[in-house]
Amino acid sequence: MPALAPPRYMSRFRCIAERCEDSCCAGLTVPVSPPQARRIRDALGDTAPLSEEDPSLGAVLRMRPDGGCALLDAERLCSLQRHHGEALLPDICATFPRVVTRWGERWELAGTLACPEVARLCLLAEDAFHLEAAVPPASLLPRPDVARAIEPGEAWTAHAETVRDALLRWLDRRTHPLASRIALLGHFAHAVEDVYFQGTRASREALQAHLDAALQHFDRADTQQAVHQDFAPLALPGAPSVGLFASILRARMAALRGPRFRALAHGVLTSLGLDTDDPERLEAAWRLHDARWRHLTGTHGARLDQVFRHYALHAVWRTPFTDAPTLLGYVFRLALRLGLLRFVLMGHPRVEALHLAPATPEASASLDLAVVETFQLVARHVETSPEFLTLARGLEGTGRGAQTLGKTLVFASF
Ligand code: SF4
Repeated sequence: MPALAPPRYMSRFRCIAERCEDSCCAGLTVPVSPPQARRIRDALGDTAPLSEEDPSLGAVLRMRPDGGCALLDAERLCSLQRHHGEALLPDICATFPRVVTRWGERWELAGTLACPEVARLCLLAEDAFHLEAAVPPASLLPRPDVARAIEPGEAWTAHAETVRDALLRWLDRRTHPLASRIALLGHFAHAVEDVYFQGTRASREALQAHLDAALQHFDRADTQQAVHQDFAPLALPGAPSVGLFASILRARMAALRGPRFRALAHGVLTSLGLDTDDPERLEAAWRLHDARWRHLTGTHGARLDQVFRHYALHAVWRTPFTDAPTLLGYVFRLALRLGLLRFVLMGHPRVEALHLAPATPEASASLDLAVVETFQLVARHVETSPEFLTLARGLEGTGRGAQTLGKTLVFASF
């Protein structure tokens, strides 16, 4: 089996088990394949907490009313693993929080930020994205076969690694603020959208020539400077985005019983004065958000920059853009998620307490706690939720054209 090069945040990862502030499965859907469901039924009989509408399609594990898995014991450890061993676990439980992608013959490892320990390692360590020496996949992965595969057979995927390398390179280039780098990604995606999309019929050669020219153009320092100069002075209204993000939190609070997420969402809405959905309050909430962001940029700017940059790098590394129908749609969603995370972080009660406070080691430690809680709970309870995905799809439209680019810039500038 070919070697796998893990980023440092994943080579460092060790599950912290009973010291973890969450559990792997809380609030998530756990699919179980038909053979795995049969084995669990054989072991647990009628007590197997499986819901299966159509056994040929597999099942999902039933969750308790508080959102935790029915198989967690009193110590919040998995009773299935404890009594029957790792082999009986569904794939997602055996591999969580690891996410593996096979690009042709090459394997890549990422982690999900839904795990608090992965979120800490990925967002807070400066060298989180340093690539380690390659190792055999089996030494890092319990089930190496459970990997998403990207086959470079068609034009869309054949050029994907080159395009993704450019996205990662531009996101990591710190000459301009991250918001301007997201704008750059948006402009690049818009520039190639006529020929480069899922299902494109352009020949590989024609596509190669088109992409090479666009990559060369957007790689140039003067192009990046021009995008930044056009984008940075834009003063886009923030109140509509505040209303949108607040409505997402409210929808998730109504759908979820997870106490950690509900406490965070309630704290965010209260601290920004959005505890009722009175539209009159949006402008004031936006001004508060903006004031906190400006203050924090002055006191903890380097930390904020690292955290959001690592989030963006992680997103592009973990979820290949080839999953989306268009590159611009993918960049739009990244900008939308970044905007949502900024909103939740600026509303976090710890950040409220840091507003106007000086930069001290205690303040930095408190900001780090707020960051991990925000990014982890949003990854677990919002980013893949039906409410958020439906909203993102609606806003994204066709995932092409000046309108989608415009919306990308709105959320990038939030
Ligand atoms: S969420 Fe992460 S750290 Fe927590 S128990 Fe699961 S794997 Fe371990």
